[in-house]
Amino acid sequence: MSSDESHGPEPTKPTRRTFLSAATVTAAAAVTVPMVAAPASAGGHDDDGPGRPVRPQAPDRELRRLLDEIDQRRIEAIVRRLAAFGTRHTLSSQDDPVRGIGAARDWIHEQMRGYAAASGGRLTVEVQSYIQQPASRIPVPTRISNVVATLRGTTSPGRVYVVTGHYDSRCTDVMDFTSDAPGADDDASGVALLMELARVMSKRPIEATVVFAAVAGEEQNLYGSTYLAQQYKAAGTDIQGMFSCDIIGSSTADDGTRDPRSVRLFAEGVPTSETPGQASTRQSVGGENDSPSRQLARFVSDVAENSATGMNVRVVYRRDRYLRGSDHIAFLREGWPAGRFTEPNEDFAHQHQDVRVVDGKQFGDLPEFCDFGYITRVTKVNGAVLYSLAQAPGTPKRATIVTTNLTNDTELRWDRGTEPDLAGYEVLWRETTASEWTHVIEVGDVTTVTINLSKDNVFFGIRAVDRDGHRSPVAFPQPGS
Ligand SMILES: [Zn+2]
Repeated sequence: MSSDESHGPEPTKPTRRTFLSAATVTAAAAVTVPMVAAPASAGGHDDDGPGRPVRPQAPDRELRRLLDEIDQRRIEAIVRRLAAFGTRHTLSSQDDPVRGIGAARDWIHEQMRGYAAASGGRLTVEVQSYIQQPASRIPVPTRISNVVATLRGTTSPGRVYVVTGHYDSRCTDVMDFTSDAPGADDDASGVALLMELARVMSKRPIEATVVFAAVAGEEQNLYGSTYLAQQYKAAGTDIQGMFSCDIIGSSTADDGTRDPRSVRLFAEGVPTSETPGQASTRQSVGGENDSPSRQLARFVSDVAENSATGMNVRVVYRRDRYLRGSDHIAFLREGWPAGRFTEPNEDFAHQHQDVRVVDGKQFGDLPEFCDFGYITRVTKVNGAVLYSLAQAPGTPKRATIVTTNLTNDTELRWDRGTEPDLAGYEVLWRETTASEWTHVIEVGDVTTVTINLSKDNVFFGIRAVDRDGHRSPVAFPQPGS
């Protein structure tokens, strides 16, 4: 379909103030008692607590320019080219030059090498391979190859963000590696997204490192992404955010319902990697809605719901859909914040289906059922997120809520980041029943602060700010001394 540039006003988040004013009116009318004044604060006075309402981060001029360069025609051409390999099943031919996963791998590699050659040395590309021994859905030793393009950061190269799409495909029988499996939506759409972002983002320097990885073996059991995550773990890489873009090709449901301005982001609460000690802390003081993945999801809404993307991000508070999974789980297992982008409605006639016509109805994951304007907008969402993450300071480390004695104040500590353009920190807070941060208090370039609010009654977070006003994702402090 053609692109549609119309959009509503920039979304704003409801603040606690709005809810409180309504509640205050009701309470006053009912019992006619004066409202008790809230305590004074580190960040200024307010009627309902310290700080000011949280506002979304607007895209800067450079980000708008970057998003304007994302090219729908290129995205469509990539999806159609990948579908034309016939099948990209992980067990299909590795060396047929025309049909099978090997031909697709080589084509993606060649395209990415072209982007690297035009990047002034910023982007590098490798094919990362290993032999998967027989295991679930892998009957014989099988080479699994990821095409990994790395855009190295200029000032914080050790801080890494990853986006993946899987280039393997399947049809009805997950072990059938000979029948056509065009995999246009699942997941040539995600591969097109990351390839186009690699091309556009590598034209300019960015501060932290971003990795664009086309992975294989997803349909067999997340093999490629698991290997990728394990390699990063073994190297001690500081992964601060990861996204799997998997099935982002269409917004049309099987009943014809369309929702072309919305994308889902699945983000877990209780971490997949949670240890018994962490579980005990969570049981004691809460935080099941404050995992690193939930903070990352809030950051996505913060930077990507605006007129530059034309999209709403519908965050879903679960790891993935029922009966489904994707490559973000490989990164969650290693303890890194991660989420999965996927289209708002699905049409299961065009996923994991043999290409066939039954009673006049076409089945199969064919490019004709993709909406290339939609894929382009989801690509813009991910571009806004990855650029904003890379240009902002990293998430504060060792964020601690001090619990050495009982007090009605709250003392917070964290480590200072090493970014050369770091300007300072902000403390965020919200009612424990709120799902989004509502208040922000600027606290300056410090690493400890005391807030005149009881930690028993609200949730706190800490984020870093740079000199251009880019904000990091929020760190949720852990109890300590
Ligand atoms: Zn998939």
